[in-house]
Amino acid sequence: MRGDHPAISLNTVYKSLEAFEREGLLTKFVIGDRSNYRYDFTTRDHIHHLCVSCGRVSDVDLTDPDCIARVLEGISHPDPGDVERVEINLIGECGECLLRERSPEG
Ligand SMILES: [Zn+2]
Repeated sequence: MRGDHPAISLNTVYKSLEAFEREGLLTKFVIGDRSNYRYDFTTRDHIHHLCVSCGRVSDVDLTDPDCIARVLEGISHPDPGDVERVEINLIGECGECLLRERSPEG
């Protein structure tokens, strides 16, 4: 982003992202390395897949929107506090990396 707009400071970028998050235009999430935040402009219900090989994060749509609620029903929470949101991540190799490994040159 800085390459395209060198006059914009990183601080301005982060402040804008935080404002967008407050307005519900994006969500901030962590996947894999807990210190590595990512921003997601996809607001429909979905989860994420992290490729352990190339590091790519891709959106995974929910075919059944109620499946998250059923996951919560199946959890015995020792301190049933408020749940603001649920983050479910799929971790494994992406299709491209699997194909590359299986190819003769791979
Ligand atoms: Zn991959």
